[in-house]
Amino acid sequence: MTLEDIYNQFPTKTDCINYLEKLRWVNKPICPYCNSNNFTQLKEENRYHCNTCNTSYSVTVETMFHKTKIDLQKWFYSIHLIINHPNIITARFLAKKINTTKDTAWRIIKEVKNSLIKQDDLVNKISKDEKRFNT
Ligand SMILES: [Zn+2]
Repeated sequence: MTLEDIYNQFPTKTDCINYLEKLRWVNKPICPYCNSNNFTQLKEENRYHCNTCNTSYSVTVETMFHKTKIDLQKWFYSIHLIINHPNIITARFLAKKINTTKDTAWRIIKEVKNSLIKQDDLVNKISKDEKRFNT
């Protein structure tokens, strides 16, 4: 599996977000602040208003993907590389694979390793989704 394969599966950012929504929420958005599923869809795609605590949110709130400037496709690919080959992933290696600077790659490695320590459910689900990412 190459980065290009990931872009073929998820051509746009919206495709990535829809995928994350499915993994994180299954059917219905759940407010990350109060766990309510009483929501109103906002005009802006993939954003929701919580009718219980009156805040708005998207699926990336409280995840490593929140407000990232790096393509989500690169995050997905990195998660797979890091989790499946934990010993050979250096920042230099990852940077080459996802076409970023070494600093960016280093930050991604740090985030993914932290999420493993925290047993982040979303990252776990992505890393175990072999149907999508057959590395
Ligand atoms: Zn809420």
